Amino acid sequence: LNRRLTEFGTTIFAEMSALAVKTGSINLGQGFPDTDGPEEVREAAVRALRDGRGNQYPPGPGVPELRTAIVAHQARRYGLSFDPDTEVLVTAGATEAIAATLLALLEPGDEVVALEPYYDSYAACIAMAGATRVPVTLRPDPENARFRLDLDELRDAVTDRTRLLLINTPHNPTGTVLTREELTAVAGLAAERDLLVVTDEVYEHLVFDGAEHVPLATLPGMRDRTVTIGSAGKTFSFTGWKVGWVTAAPGLVTAVRSAKQFLTYVASGPFQYAVAEALALPDSYFDAFRTDMRAKRDLLATGLAEAGFGVFRPAGTYFVTTDIRPLGETDGFAFCRSLPERAGVVAIPNAVFYDHKEAGAPYVRFAFCKRESVLAEAVARLKALV
Ligand code: PMP
Ligand code: GLN
Repeated sequence: LNRRLTEFGTTIFAEMSALAVKTGSINLGQGFPDTDGPEEVREAAVRALRDGRGNQYPPGPGVPELRTAIVAHQARRYGLSFDPDTEVLVTAGATEAIAATLLALLEPGDEVVALEPYYDSYAACIAMAGATRVPVTLRPDPENARFRLDLDELRDAVTDRTRLLLINTPHNPTGTVLTREELTAVAGLAAERDLLVVTDEVYEHLVFDGAEHVPLATLPGMRDRTVTIGSAGKTFSFTGWKVGWVTAAPGLVTAVRSAKQFLTYVASGPFQYAVAEALALPDSYFDAFRTDMRAKRDLLATGLAEAGFGVFRPAGTYFVTTDIRPLGETDGFAFCRSLPERAGVVAIPNAVFYDHKEAGAPYVRFAFCKRESVLAEAVARLKALV
């Protein structure tokens, strides 16, 4: 294994899901729903397979039906307008979108300013591109039990070598939804220092309690310097289908496509047609999805608080970050390694998403995209934790 990748080992998600299977634990580690997405969307995939749509290589940019649906969805929800022919690229999940974007845009030696904790593939893809990550740590704000972006730290992280800012909202693992104010500051900095911004918005539909998801590309001046990443896996509960996308100005999409063509070339043919139908579902689907996840969030967040964890009640995503110090614990890694034995529950130590390991040490992430009976059982087990 080359030097660029040795620090990464096996992804925490594979490690923890394997531990869950081995110990028969409830897996609140890796974020995937334990029920499938809408029946009519599954039927659409079956129809595509049967009718021979997408069973051979789909077009490189993605099937036209899906590109049109992505554009229509962004227009309907956010008033954004993209050209389906030149400003959209379908990818093998958001994971490939992240990889292709970073491989396409970074030169060796470039710096990428990324929010820490960061989704694990960011660090690996920055390394594969030969670039350097410069983490800006989200700090817990005791006032409102939220992790927030320190705008001075963000500003200080930018140097002459900075090529792009990499952000994620709603944010995995903290559940923070960046506010319009925070995003306006990101946009101002990008304009001032002439930076591109890559924004991972895969949890765009999972915002709660009146929090607003503000797509960075909607802010003044940002449309043409932003690469936005989305995914059907999160919004429609089909993480196995691996349908994601990039929307950006034509030059950026062309660049990302140059890298993407040599990664997978194309992927997920029949599923692309099904996701095109999913994106056209009425608002009632998206509302019901959010309402369901909010109830699950409440069940888990309340249960974890009753079990003694410090809880950062998430405004978005399907993850809740907890502080284990009220339980008398300090090391999230050790805690997560022992939790299957002690309680029959698997969680993720947030420290894996940090360069400043000590900043992430006391935090542990639980996923709540699970049936309520499963969450209730997990809570019961955690309350009995010894
Ligand atoms: N970005 C974030 C923030 C994620 O949480 C995930 C999924 N865990 C991804 C990207 C990857 O998405 P996909 O499954 O579509 O590749
Ligand atoms: N995005 C999911 C999470 O954060 C898992 C993705 C993966 O397994 N790579 O849990």
